[in-house]
Amino acid sequence: MAATIIDGKEFAGRVRAQVARHVDRLKSDHDITPGLAVVLVGTDPASDVYVRSKGKMTREVGMKSVEHRLDAATSEAELLNLIETLNAAHDIHGILVQLPLPRHINEDLVINAIDPAKDVDGFHISNVGMLSTGQKAMVPCTPLGCLMMLRDHHGSLSGMNAVVIGRSNIVGKPMAQLLLGDSCTVTIAHSRTKDLADVVRRADIVIAAVGRPEMVPGDWIKPGATVIDVGINRLDAPERGAGKTRLVGDVDYESCAAVAGAITPVPGGVGPMTIACLLANTVTACCRANGLSEPEGLTA
Ligand code: NDP
Repeated sequence: MAATIIDGKEFAGRVRAQVARHVDRLKSDHDITPGLAVVLVGTDPASDVYVRSKGKMTREVGMKSVEHRLDAATSEAELLNLIETLNAAHDIHGILVQLPLPRHINEDLVINAIDPAKDVDGFHISNVGMLSTGQKAMVPCTPLGCLMMLRDHHGSLSGMNAVVIGRSNIVGKPMAQLLLGDSCTVTIAHSRTKDLADVVRRADIVIAAVGRPEMVPGDWIKPGATVIDVGINRLDAPERGAGKTRLVGDVDYESCAAVAGAITPVPGGVGPMTIACLLANTVTACCRANGLSEPEGLTA
């Protein structure tokens, strides 16, 4: 039987609509407008596209969007000064520093200078610690989006075997923590894992966050398993015309979809959920800062 396609684009639309309704309520009942500040240092074209689209979607849900575009030569001290100003700004509830930063700036130092309560990327060391100790944290957007899709599809995840391929700080590790929090039995695989195919074959849930195009073939997937493909890889596609490209994930979609019970496509799966969760985190941060109730189902 063909796998159910988990439509991240449609789901992200629902999440954004819920965020927009909550923003409306914050405005009408409390005269509060959630604000998100995005900081971009330098002119990396991919980062520029991300920042633009984050700004557009922030405004579309009725929140205040502030962009700080700094020269590539900006010093670490200047960036830290800006973070300090944003930490103190009452109309800013979320701060996101677009990564990667230029090499002369220490990323860890900058991320850990953000007020953890405004750290909507969930990368601050306090949020990492709170997530791993099961406390109320700001949760990294991509794994949060994956968790929401899994909960939506399965209801309870309790007792399921989950394999996360990839152990990065932004996807793999927080994803594993979230699945553990939902009582999955979690295995984290990485480049040194032996018999990866065997490990993946035991999984009821496979999360692929590797950065290697179409690395996971269908014969690694247990029949009926749920496959969440985090990968975003751009490949040349000369068949579409000169200079054309196409996006693929970290799993081989056709062969995996033939075996899986459910699967996320690329594009249109995890990607749209990531920005939706950034907006969700911002409204959550705003509610927490003002001691107000948070929107339901938008946090871990
Ligand atoms: P990283 O490069 O930081 O981490 C990749 C992980 O994959 C590492 O832990 C690495 O292991 C592991 N790995 C590499 N090769 C293999 C292999 N052959 N077998 C098993 N494990 C392997 O990547 P990210 O976590 O930042 O991103 C992963 C993917 O997700 C990328 O495609 C990225 O573009 C995408 N992404 C998508 C987002 C979205 O919004 N949809 C957001 C963020 C990322 P080791 O630690 O041993 O080196």
